[in-house]
Amino acid sequence: MVKIALQIKATLECIESLYTNHPHYQWFLKLKCSNCGEVAEKFTDLTEADKVPLKHNRSETNLAIKCKLCSRDNSMDVIEGSNGKYTNDDANKFKTLVIYDCRGVEPVDFEPKSGWIAEAEDNGKTFTDVDLSEKEWADYDEKNQVSVGVYELEWQFIKVK
Ligand SMILES: [Zn+2]
Repeated sequence: MVKIALQIKATLECIESLYTNHPHYQWFLKLKCSNCGEVAEKFTDLTEADKVPLKHNRSETNLAIKCKLCSRDNSMDVIEGSNGKYTNDDANKFKTLVIYDCRGVEPVDFEPKSGWIAEAEDNGKTFTDVDLSEKEWADYDEKNQVSVGVYELEWQFIKVK
């Protein structure tokens, strides 16, 4: 098994922390089969809170997927407790947001979509269901009367031990 971390980097405007509504956040990933190298055309999603039975044994997984090219049964899980928060101390640096346990597949791309939570600075408003599909988001914190936003969202995958 291979552990792969999804790291993000963003510019935060008056936002203290940015994170997903773990464990219900749907991670949309483009997956590559490590056996034959086939990269799936479409994005697949997995959610830590959703489990499906694994074939041929009694355990469960967050995602069971058969490779369309080599027909191998692959699977993947969100590692429990691996979810992190991107805070204003992390600005302009990559930070791990989640780690996946990958068995036979590895993620090669990510689609952020909605389901993010952003907490404004100075005990400001908490914005739920922030949509980062466009890699940026802007709103207004009426409590502190400031513009808030997330800009220039980028991501990368790294192998971890
Ligand atoms: Zn394959």
